[in-house]
Amino acid sequence: MTSRPTYDVAIIGGGASGLAAAVSAARTGRSVVIIERDVEIGLPILATGNGRCNLSNTDLDPARYRHPDIVRAVMGEHPEAELAAFFDSLGLMTCEIDGRLYPYSKRADSVREVLLIAALRAGAQTLTCAEVERATYDAGEGIWHLEVSKPAKPLPMPKKPHDFKALIRAQRKELRRAERVSETLSARRVVIACGGASERMAVLFHLPHIPEKPVLCPVACQPPDDRHVPLRPFALEQLDGLRVDCRLSLIRNGATMWSEDGEVLFRSYGISGIVVFDLSRRCSAGDIVEVDLFPAYGEDELTELFEARAAVFGNPARMAGTWFCGVLDSSLDAHIATLAEPIGHTCGTYAHLAKHLAFEVSGTTEHASAQVRRGGIPFDAVELPSLAIKPDIAPALSICGEALDMDADCGGFNLAWAWLSGIRAATLGSTTH
Ligand SMILES: Cc1cc2nc3c(=O)[nH]c(=O)nc-3n(C[C@H](O)[C@H](O)[C@H](O)COP(=O)(O)OP(=O)(O)OC[C@H]3O[C@@H](n4cnc5c(N)ncnc54)[C@H](O)[C@@H]3O)c2cc1C
Repeated sequence: MTSRPTYDVAIIGGGASGLAAAVSAARTGRSVVIIERDVEIGLPILATGNGRCNLSNTDLDPARYRHPDIVRAVMGEHPEAELAAFFDSLGLMTCEIDGRLYPYSKRADSVREVLLIAALRAGAQTLTCAEVERATYDAGEGIWHLEVSKPAKPLPMPKKPHDFKALIRAQRKELRRAERVSETLSARRVVIACGGASERMAVLFHLPHIPEKPVLCPVACQPPDDRHVPLRPFALEQLDGLRVDCRLSLIRNGATMWSEDGEVLFRSYGISGIVVFDLSRRCSAGDIVEVDLFPAYGEDELTELFEARAAVFGNPARMAGTWFCGVLDSSLDAHIATLAEPIGHTCGTYAHLAKHLAFEVSGTTEHASAQVRRGGIPFDAVELPSLAIKPDIAPALSICGEALDMDADCGGFNLAWAWLSGIRAATLGSTTH
């Protein structure tokens, strides 16, 4: 077993929040080490925003987060300005699309690169392929001792020239079969930045933990059971692959709980798309989701519009299943016609169904594609706004990012939390104890 010097700050996890924490801590002159279990630092950033990294939003409204009050306390009054200054300090140029912020290059690797360069330039060290196996606090010295397991030898590099993705795949394969050794690393403060799977860290540091579940993922649903319209399970198969711009509403016990406009992608198992990911943070089994295919029109207005159309195009009763030709996809046309069958093919019925296309939620699904996990270390274990763990639970320990019980809508809100919580954990944590 080898040993290293005592660092001022050891950061466990080199993703979005860990890198923001490393840059911030190292810039204050403290010695920093990032302990990352993957083969390179910052890899989660590369997958964000479909490789473009939607890194923040021009309006970081706390209501878009799971705990608005905590977001207000931690992210402060002007999080947009603070993040703009942070990105500027990294040399990262950004651009905006409908309020969403992206790197000007529209490439997530630009974001990873500037953060990594800034951390290294400020003096942070990195330890990759490394996992913390044990953590003990020496109260006399005021130091954490972290036993870290890592490959006994540097991983062999592939012989053929590889692009970055292939190189990462090859290195991960080598890492899985590498022989491992332990080394002890000491630090005056530890920052946990391990992302959405924080249960292992909770066990290592004896922290409370809320079980995690995936959110920001597709929703499984079917047309509500109706003895007059035996749609299940065929309806969604007919719609599979269809994308529509619509307003999505969540109805619980007859009341509308939430609505948002966006593009819905119908799948054979349910619905997907960014607006559905936002829905997945709010819905439960048994809820009704309504798709409004004509959000710009009220129901009466739409009925009138359909009546005018019927006068030219023909009556829905005579053209059921093809009446929406030129307006809606033929699969939706057929779906609405089936739903209208027991009620009657009138313009009023069609307008009502087109604005209230209902589906009953059975749960979230496709969890491997979920962008965020809900749950993690609860906020009652941390001090605000520093994100230091309360000293009666664990000393000299801070936490940031998705490891905490925080999640938010799509649109750059989750990464904004990762950056700012990382900055807080690195800069305020050490001043409180
Ligand atoms: C496909 C996808 C797309 C997304 N797109 C966006 C987007 O465009 N905009 C947005 O705002 N959000 C997006 N998100 C969410 C966003 O990526 C996360 O909210 C953010 O990365 C969380 O940052 P973090 O630092 O907490 O965790 P992560 O960035 O996940 O970093 C955690 C790091 O810790 C390491 N680690 C974990 N456990 C250990 C351990 N025991 N020891 C050492 N290291 C460990 C991991 O390997 C990882 O590198 C997306 C998520 C996904 C999955």
